[in-house]
Amino acid sequence: MVATGGAVGVIPDTGSVLAMTSLRAENPQPAAGRVGSFDAEALRRAVTESFEATIGQLKELVAIPGIAWPSFDPAPLNQGAEAVAELVRASGFDDVQILRCDKEDGTPGGPAVVARRPAAEGRPTVLLYAHHDVQPAGDLALWETEPFTAVEREGRLYGRGAADDKAGILAHVAAYSALTRVLGDELGLGVTFFFEGEEEAGSPTFRSFLQAHRELLRADVIVVADSSNWKVGVPALTTSLRGLVDGTIEVRVLDHAVHSGMFGGPVLDAPTLLSRLIATLHDAEGNVAVQGLVGRDDVGVDLTEEEYRADASVLDGVRLAGTGTIASRLWTKPALSIIGFDAPAVDVASNTLLPTARAKFSLRLAPGQDPADAMEAVRNHVEGNAPFGAQVVFTPGESGNSFLADTGSKAARLAMWALGEAWGVPAVEMGIGGSIPFIADLAEMYPAVQILVTGVEDPDSRAHSANESLHLGDFRNAILAEALLLARLNEEGVA
Ligand SMILES: [Zn+2]
Repeated sequence: MVATGGAVGVIPDTGSVLAMTSLRAENPQPAAGRVGSFDAEALRRAVTESFEATIGQLKELVAIPGIAWPSFDPAPLNQGAEAVAELVRASGFDDVQILRCDKEDGTPGGPAVVARRPAAEGRPTVLLYAHHDVQPAGDLALWETEPFTAVEREGRLYGRGAADDKAGILAHVAAYSALTRVLGDELGLGVTFFFEGEEEAGSPTFRSFLQAHRELLRADVIVVADSSNWKVGVPALTTSLRGLVDGTIEVRVLDHAVHSGMFGGPVLDAPTLLSRLIATLHDAEGNVAVQGLVGRDDVGVDLTEEEYRADASVLDGVRLAGTGTIASRLWTKPALSIIGFDAPAVDVASNTLLPTARAKFSLRLAPGQDPADAMEAVRNHVEGNAPFGAQVVFTPGESGNSFLADTGSKAARLAMWALGEAWGVPAVEMGIGGSIPFIADLAEMYPAVQILVTGVEDPDSRAHSANESLHLGDFRNAILAEALLLARLNEEGVA
């Protein structure tokens, strides 16, 4: 997942239940008993009995620093794919492949693990997606423990990729294992594992991979386990994701750098002018001021300012930006940030007027926003607001579609039931401020498919940051929820 934004829901007062589920529950709640023809209690027991082993497997995966960025050694990434393939074979799959497509520049894309178990006659197929590549560790000084050595502390497992997204892989594999153990020959469901190896690098070969393996990946339901739950102890189904466009804005004012004493005053330097241009991207309240972007403010749930400030680590005294509910600012409205700035660093600054300066912007798009229209809107804005007649060069970058789930689908309804059953509290439908661009590709490739976005993260998982961690109690519940969902899909189908 590209970084999550906070999430909210109407939460029943379940303090005591939360407290119980927030610790690694040794005594799971009494079973829901038989549901249809399968035994939910047996599934819960199967998940609990193998949970220690599941955590052990997760720790082994965390120890493999598989990073798909071009500047990193690909060996650990390939090793990670092999380890995941081994895990899948051990869970009972014979047909396990490591597949990849080349990128546009001809270099190899990330290794994906694909394993398939065909469906019995008349039964649906479910594609279970996660990714084994991870974000780099970043500044090691910020980590309390070694990033690639998984450490358990106070009911959480710390390590890079522990939550994003190796727990997603293990949630799928452990749910499937429990299911086969409990249902045996009753299991007619088709199951396909698709564990990508380049998600954190923007999934550069995703579309061509889908094209190349269209039939292999075809399914009736797709479960993308790469999102967040609402809070520790409260599960969620992600029903909307923002889209994304990015690019660079360069300001040119002089042909070359000149002495700031000899020439300073009648002309402003490029960093100053770029900063003024950047300042026009938001209005006085902090709303995105680019014309032509869509956004809406009718989200049915909300997040308190305190919760948002704590989750986002906002410093005291800093005023929040934007108008409308916090949930709508996170999920259903655009958000623009400057994520890079090219100008001489302070330590090497000299007394000259700088001729050019460049910044990289990242714009989160409200669900339903066409990325191409958004990119043009930003271009029109910066070219139309060139300060002091400076030359502005706009260079479009990446773009990714938003996602809006069909919450009325059979799969979505079963997922909400399964989440509530596993956690013992009602699940929440929530939006996420982050983006998973390839979901739109899946929806385009398989128009009839029912897509579910679930997760193992919580607001304190710190995906992409130092001290990433996974809440183990919620992880166990996520495995059980998936096993329950698959058991009902096996029995009832998708119609
Ligand atoms: Zn992820």
